[in-house]
Amino acid sequence: MMEKRKAGKIIAAVNNKGGVAKTTSAVSLAAGLAAEGRRVLLADLDAQASASLSLGIARADLLPSAAEVLLQGLPVQEAVRRSYVEGLDILTGSMALSSADLVLADRTGREAVLRSALTPARREYDVIILDCPPSLGLVPVNALTAADLFFVPMTPDYLALEGLVNLMEAVERIRAGIGKTADLLGILLTLCDYRLNATAEIIGMIRRHYGRQVFKTEIKSNVRLKEAPSFGKTIFDFDRGSAGAECYRAFVQEVLGMI
Ligand code: ADP
Ligand code: MG
Repeated sequence: MMEKRKAGKIIAAVNNKGGVAKTTSAVSLAAGLAAEGRRVLLADLDAQASASLSLGIARADLLPSAAEVLLQGLPVQEAVRRSYVEGLDILTGSMALSSADLVLADRTGREAVLRSALTPARREYDVIILDCPPSLGLVPVNALTAADLFFVPMTPDYLALEGLVNLMEAVERIRAGIGKTADLLGILLTLCDYRLNATAEIIGMIRRHYGRQVFKTEIKSNVRLKEAPSFGKTIFDFDRGSAGAECYRAFVQEVLGMI
């Protein structure tokens, strides 16, 4: 008998700032959910392809990628592949994604291309995680249009706080412009270095201002998280006893309680 699957949840990792652990969080969340028995697709929407490389895919082996799906109409099933992690499939990123703004500019419904492209994949997965590039260009806009939920990784420093206000305003403008967009799942504090005096203070400010919109879990700065990508392994496989793995396991549990 054919099993009837309900459509999976699409969750985007969004922040127009780079270096805030979007990719680290997207990869760890995807792998952690897979470890919990969920069928997961990770879509790497960044031209840098960091998520794909983090999972041990060689640079020479990135094609076909999300670029061909998004920009050339390649069916998503033809670009998705297994990752080395059981239960985790991946749609790779590639350089061609950097021309997305140009290629999509004149297209009608240009904000919803990804949404349509992912439709056949929705029923195949429990969760689809979208790793976004550090911009508010058409790729993140497509991600916000395709997703049910988005989360915002951010580092606890003063400039990031200002950036967060701008990001939230931009998301509201996108929502006003195109109607339905993803809802905020939460703000994830990343790269938390508690040895710095300012860290606790800034985290306090963010929590007072954003309240329950901030995940309880905080991701500590942990050198093992920085090392794992160059070994092509998730933090759970690279060093499952590390503080970084522990933080992301807690994050995965917190997300599971919300979706
Ligand atoms: P983004 O996708 O937002 O640009 P990345 O996930 O690539 O950010 O992270 C930026 C850099 O910080 C990477 O070198 C990554 O390995 C490192 N990093 C991410 N999270 C942590 C952490 N908790 N502790 C230490 N290094 C981290
Ligand atoms: Mg990234």
